[in-house]
Amino acid sequence: MVSTTSFTTTKSEEIFAQAQKLMPGGVNSPVRAFKSVGGQPIVFDRVNGAYIWDVDNNKYIDYVGSWGPAICGHAHPEVLSALKEVLEKGTSFGAPCLLENVLAEMVIEAVPSIEMVRFVNSGTEACLSVLRLMRAYTKRNKIIKFEGCYHGHGDMFLVQAGSGVATLGLPDSPGVPKNVTSDTLTAPYNDLEAVKKLFEENKGEIAGVILEAVVGNAGFVPPDAGFLEGLRVITEENDALLVFDEVMTGFRIAYGGVQEKFGVTPDLTTLGKVIGGGLPVGAYGGKKEIMSMVAPAGPMYQAGTLSGNPLAMMAGIKTLELLQKPGTYEYLEKITNQLITGLLDVARKAGHQVNGGNISGMFGMFFSDTPVHNYSDAKKADTAKFGRFHRGMLEKGVYLAPSQFEAGFTSLAHTEEDIEATIRAAAEVLKEI
Ligand code: PMP
Repeated sequence: MVSTTSFTTTKSEEIFAQAQKLMPGGVNSPVRAFKSVGGQPIVFDRVNGAYIWDVDNNKYIDYVGSWGPAICGHAHPEVLSALKEVLEKGTSFGAPCLLENVLAEMVIEAVPSIEMVRFVNSGTEACLSVLRLMRAYTKRNKIIKFEGCYHGHGDMFLVQAGSGVATLGLPDSPGVPKNVTSDTLTAPYNDLEAVKKLFEENKGEIAGVILEAVVGNAGFVPPDAGFLEGLRVITEENDALLVFDEVMTGFRIAYGGVQEKFGVTPDLTTLGKVIGGGLPVGAYGGKKEIMSMVAPAGPMYQAGTLSGNPLAMMAGIKTLELLQKPGTYEYLEKITNQLITGLLDVARKAGHQVNGGNISGMFGMFFSDTPVHNYSDAKKADTAKFGRFHRGMLEKGVYLAPSQFEAGFTSLAHTEEDIEATIRAAAEVLKEI
């Protein structure tokens, strides 16, 4: 165990013990309970810039960034002051407001595939809605998703990731009926042949392919050269839709997301996280012809009491404005590459088998000697070792995602000193685990 003198979590322990009596597992989203790393979950009090403080006043350099939204740094003064102004006018109209137009225009201008957009309140909602749209537009029911890709907790997407049974569409969670997932076909990520085979076996029945174009939910897994281009060709050949779930990667991998960075334009895109600047926002958008099917322009029903609410729209607008400043993505690439190069280096020097990488401000490291191209590769990583690494880093003031199968995120607020301090902490921890 890493030796520390000042790291105590007494208040976290008390609050979390109480939380467990009030909420399932003490949390409102499972990974927060630290099940995959073990140890006492931390209860947080406040955030600022690149830092997060817990209720015991321990300060951490934060590489979770609220799971992605905090790309400009937490509690950015420009975002907060714009929010305060909006707040004075009230929190929700449940009716059209000008700020919706402003954010919609920004999204349409930025994301190559999006000609028209609908705002919702989470990534899950965006993915559920896009799925309905894929089916409504193509009049087909089957979809292809990839093992290890997460598209929110909608029934249809909760399909077990694992070779043989995967293609049978067995549900991942009790409460998801088999007949609901029987139209969800799965393939290993980065495997074009598997996708072709599914299209051959299900001719004329597949509505489309949905994927995290750069994966974050199996850990950080980038697409192999030609994979995204191949999917574009296969879907076109089969009159099926290509959908990029850019909830995590949108405005993070590049301002226009993976589709801008890799030059492959899908038919539809889902967004979330960054476009809400830390407030609950999701979105789906794409070609006008397809989006015109959405009610009330067309017959595909989808609605939301709080959708497009002024506070959430403003947080998104200000966040995107900050991201438009010159040098943003160059800076994220520079510090994140410095971070991952440093981490891999100190890990190898300490005798660990690791691999990992980054694109812009999204990164990941696996304790594994197998290069990771898909979910089965990712699952070979040493999770027990990651658990020890995670705890050691916490004790040294670095907050990493509490699972090896989650990407890490940097922000514009992270300084080179933060990165250096993180690598120094890692060097010490890695010698002891
Ligand atoms: N899609 C992707 C790629 C995601 O990373 C996530 C959340 N991590 C979701 C969808 C679901 O978004 P939310 O948690 O906002 O419902």
